[in-house]
Amino acid sequence: MPDPNGFLRYDRRLPARRPVPVRISDWREVYPPAGEELIREQATRCMDCGIPFCHDGCPLGNRIPDWNDLVRTGNWDAAVDSLHATNNFPEFTGRLCPAPCEAACVLGLGGQQPVTIKQVEVEIADAAVARDGLRPRPASVSTGRSVAVVGSGPAGLAAAQQLARAGHTVTVYERDDAIGGLLRYGIPDFKLEKQHIDKRLAQLTAEGVRFRTGVEVGVDVTAEQLRAEHDAVLLACGALQGRDTPQTPGRALRGVHQAMAHLVAANRVVAAAGEGKPALATLPDGTPIDAAGKHVVIIGGGDTAADCLGVAHRQGAAGVHQLDLYPQPPSERDAERDPWPTWPWVLRNYPAHEEGGDRVFAVAVQEFVDDGTGQVRAVRIAEVTVEKVDGRRIVTALPGSEREIPADLVLLAIGFEGTEKQPLLAQFGVTRNGRGAIDSGPDWQATDGVFVAGDMHRGASLIVWAIAEGRAAAAAIHTYLGGVGDLPAPVDPARQPLAAR
Ligand SMILES: Cc1cc2nc3c(=O)[nH]c(=O)nc-3n(C[C@H](O)[C@H](O)[C@H](O)COP(=O)(O)OP(=O)(O)OC[C@H]3O[C@@H](n4cnc5c(N)ncnc54)[C@H](O)[C@@H]3O)c2cc1C
Ligand code: SF4
Repeated sequence: MPDPNGFLRYDRRLPARRPVPVRISDWREVYPPAGEELIREQATRCMDCGIPFCHDGCPLGNRIPDWNDLVRTGNWDAAVDSLHATNNFPEFTGRLCPAPCEAACVLGLGGQQPVTIKQVEVEIADAAVARDGLRPRPASVSTGRSVAVVGSGPAGLAAAQQLARAGHTVTVYERDDAIGGLLRYGIPDFKLEKQHIDKRLAQLTAEGVRFRTGVEVGVDVTAEQLRAEHDAVLLACGALQGRDTPQTPGRALRGVHQAMAHLVAANRVVAAAGEGKPALATLPDGTPIDAAGKHVVIIGGGDTAADCLGVAHRQGAAGVHQLDLYPQPPSERDAERDPWPTWPWVLRNYPAHEEGGDRVFAVAVQEFVDDGTGQVRAVRIAEVTVEKVDGRRIVTALPGSEREIPADLVLLAIGFEGTEKQPLLAQFGVTRNGRGAIDSGPDWQATDGVFVAGDMHRGASLIVWAIAEGRAAAAAIHTYLGGVGDLPAPVDPARQPLAAR
């Protein structure tokens, strides 16, 4: 029986982040472990509601009240099992998820702060590693059926693990030189140290999953070959088509780049340093891309922009501006606009914002300004208003509001336009829809024997959705292959985040 008064006795508390001057001098994670005492106290705040809305906030159907109570009572082994029953990789979501479960926590309804669900999750996940080093759970019987998974992000890896544990032979094809999708070279180490991916990789390998890195499906191996070698194919190639702004004057200047170019280069340097190899941050063609000593302007207000901000500070930027088209959101939920338990539009302060930089809201870039040699020296911005008219976004610049911000490096973090246009699509006979995503039927099949999951299906989203879709697609593939019994399917392809009707 959970403690019904825990939330009255304890306030919400998170572990202190590492001090800013210390953490920006390295690439280690921002949060240290919380310690058992704090986590048991915070788990005690969960009242095990009759209708726990935290469940509805999370697409994985995590058994949040169950594992909160198991942590409260110090029953860590059972908490580990309960958490892993619904989530293949809680050490990823516990570190990285924006936690829609917390936005939906019933405590938020009565003016209380929600339970620190995500922090409890990461502590249980890390306890699993400390206890048995992520013990492999290989299938006892092989089905003799074979599945190709294309893409090794959280969607592909979750599906691969579910299918391998059900006895299928799984091969993951990844065009990059390392496994993990955006978690490997997109998301910086200060949010997720790569040891967490490597530990899962070891577990997956021990469970029989085969990995083929450096193989681009559609180029190095054709769809026809994959279909011939496997009984089913899962496409989990992400939504990596970066949005651009080709109409803005000066876009072609040197020093104006897609944010991902900067992040991938920086993360590769950190990875190389971990192997004791010196490396320079460069674009694939060898052009250096580094914020050291530079005035950096980041355009965009989401995860990608915040990651660029943290990277720029660690590289030693002279100064950073982060520009957002929209006005500054309120600090508290606006109950008229976003009633509980929906995801609220509020100002999100990532740890990277604590580390420095200036955020400028309600502005749009009018021009990237040339220094006379083809290199950007400034961005010219104007204050703007943004309206939605017939579903279209109308941006209006306020006359006389223009000004320049110095810039040696400009990073475009303005979102993604769906899955990349690449040869694989035509070879498998699938086409991008209006949002650049690949549609599926209710059984996750995009075309006969070819399934789709994660950002490639949903559009750029979150890790928790990628894992949920990977698990659900694996369940559909298992059924398609005539597997015995059902695998868990936490979402169907039409499921959307909680919304007010
Ligand atoms: C910078 C950044 C920061 C983010 N931060 C967060 C965060 O903090 N929290 C959060 O929840 N979400 C975050 N996200 C979103 C999250 O990373 C994605 O939603 C998630 O990774 C999607 O998983 P996925 O498996 O569908 O695809 P991805 O992770 O994109 O993986 C797709 C993989 O497919 C591979 N691939 C593509 N085509 C081929 C091919 N033809 N052959 C072989 N391999 C191929 C790619 O190389 C890639 O490795 C962030 C996204 C970005 C860009
Ligand atoms: S909604 Fe909040 S208080 Fe209720 S069960 Fe979930 S975490 Fe606990």
